[in-house]
Amino acid sequence: MSTREAILTGDTPTGQLHLGHYFGSVRRRIELQETHDCYFLLANMHAYTTRSDAPNEIYTDTLEIVRDYLAMGIDPVKAAVVLQSEVPAIAELTFLFAMLLPFNRVMRNPTLKEEIKVKGLGENYSFGFPLYAVGQTADILAFRAHAVPVGEDQVPHIELTREVARRFNKLYCGVDENIEDDDPIMEEKGVFPIPRADVGKVGKLMGTDGVNKMSKSLNNAILITDTPKKVKKKLGQLYTGRQSMTDPGDPDSSLMQYVELFIKDEARAAELKDKYVRGDNIGDGHIKVEVAESISELLAPMQERRAEYEGNDDTIIDIIRDGTARANVKTEETLAMAKEACGLGFFNRSISFGDSK
Ligand code: ATP
Ligand code: MG
Repeated sequence: MSTREAILTGDTPTGQLHLGHYFGSVRRRIELQETHDCYFLLANMHAYTTRSDAPNEIYTDTLEIVRDYLAMGIDPVKAAVVLQSEVPAIAELTFLFAMLLPFNRVMRNPTLKEEIKVKGLGENYSFGFPLYAVGQTADILAFRAHAVPVGEDQVPHIELTREVARRFNKLYCGVDENIEDDDPIMEEKGVFPIPRADVGKVGKLMGTDGVNKMSKSLNNAILITDTPKKVKKKLGQLYTGRQSMTDPGDPDSSLMQYVELFIKDEARAAELKDKYVRGDNIGDGHIKVEVAESISELLAPMQERRAEYEGNDDTIIDIIRDGTARANVKTEETLAMAKEACGLGFFNRSISFGDSK
């Protein structure tokens, strides 16, 4: 078994991937797949928390996300691409961990609250919706992951995960709750390492609505698959609140974030920003066109790679089957350790998951 530290992160198939995923998480994953045991989870069960009426879309989005992974540079030989619904240990740990978290603690999670608000879920969300936050602690801990490369919106979920890991290790393994994360006792005595959030330089990429974070389900995202024409159109619709070329612009606007991130020539980016902020005769439209061109340049090689996997579902399913088989080896081991620790170790069970191919 590998001695490299494990990394877990993933995406919910609620749509296709966008630039927020690339900058918030995927870019980091591409570095980590060279040095760590990486597992990238397709959180398809979690998609049912808000889309249980759309199983076909969830199925299709799951496959499309894998194509986006390949387009962005994730290598399925180096990193396991894992299908959540075929990893039973995650479901079992979710139930167990739900007992370690007070209900009110889960509902206080600011990311959950924000999602309820921006997705307009009102009071009618399913019981399973808040349960996904518990499920996410199981996703991470099932792999005994040390780090989770995510955008900043996920930090409260990682915080919850750290609490679960500490509580489990204390309650069932007698690990003192005051020791440091990386104290060797944690892993010698405990079952779970305490995972940390690995938030990249761009923790939150703003959406083309100019208000919310770029998000699959908010219709404000520039997708990895967007054509230059679409990118231009979406940029055109970006709201900045500026009335004229001489209005001083907001340096913290989405448009300025895009300028800093996408215009490769740093001097040019600084010049645009300076003129915009001072309202020095520069229109939003002009900046938007330049940004759109830079974005399309970034996307072009990704789209070329993606085209190789278009329409070939069997290849994609083979990738998922292989990654999921690798994941089941790891997570069954974790589950057995956890059960042994918490009084459920009556006898060993073994489930046959079939070959990786
Ligand atoms: P949904 O609208 O369904 O919540 P999403 O676009 O927020 O979708 P997630 O599947 O929730 O995407 O997130 C996957 C990963 O991408 C997480 O690590 C998340 O932090 C990161 N991420 C998503 N959107 C952004 C963004 N705009 N900026 C930075 N990181 C992001
Ligand atoms: Mg999200």
